[in-house]
Amino acid sequence: MKFSRIVKFIILIVAATYLIQNPVKVAEGRAWLTNKVQEWVVLLDTNNSNTGKSGTSGATQETVSTDDHGTTHLNGAIWPKKTLNVYFDTSEVNMPAYESTWQRAFDNWNAVKILTLVRVQNKNQADIVLTTEDISNTSQAGVAEAQFLVNPLNGKKVMTHVVAKLNVHYLNQYSETRKINTAEHELGHALGLDHETGRASVMQPQGADYGIQPSDINQLKTLYQN
Ligand SMILES: [Zn+2]
Repeated sequence: MKFSRIVKFIILIVAATYLIQNPVKVAEGRAWLTNKVQEWVVLLDTNNSNTGKSGTSGATQETVSTDDHGTTHLNGAIWPKKTLNVYFDTSEVNMPAYESTWQRAFDNWNAVKILTLVRVQNKNQADIVLTTEDISNTSQAGVAEAQFLVNPLNGKKVMTHVVAKLNVHYLNQYSETRKINTAEHELGHALGLDHETGRASVMQPQGADYGIQPSDINQLKTLYQN
């Protein structure tokens, strides 16, 4: 009917006019959506311990995308900002001996100048917490526990908090270089890097043989290039 068509047309015009004049409503809608996105926790494990065990994950928390080989994937989860607050949790009993190890990894990732890491004195302000643990019933020399949000509309993942730990059970027997390599590996996860098996990389899941490589820097650059 002609009249109902006119009514529909008027409603469309009014709606369009309203939306054009109230762009703030779009932002509200976005905020609502953000609250609706699902939160996941993923544990990123390494098999740097060189104990000869296969990479069985010692994860007890809820994990996402953990495969049978103990490698875990962030699947592209990255930080929504380029300056990250980092807290060194020295309350952990073994941490004082490893504070300089974490500091070296912190400095080395900062030196690549893709993300800016800022050391903060308040744990509540931290995006990333660096600490230690002493666990023998795992093959992992370190772990990065990442929390991220998943946008259900586009599947994009945004990192919200990471706790990275060095497992002194293994690291106490490591050379200083391998300790730093392991710390760089876990901090690499905390910045959004996944495991790399095809080339020389600090993100190789086993061995702790490499520090940060040029290809690792390129990989991080690719994640944050926009
Ligand atoms: Zn790893």
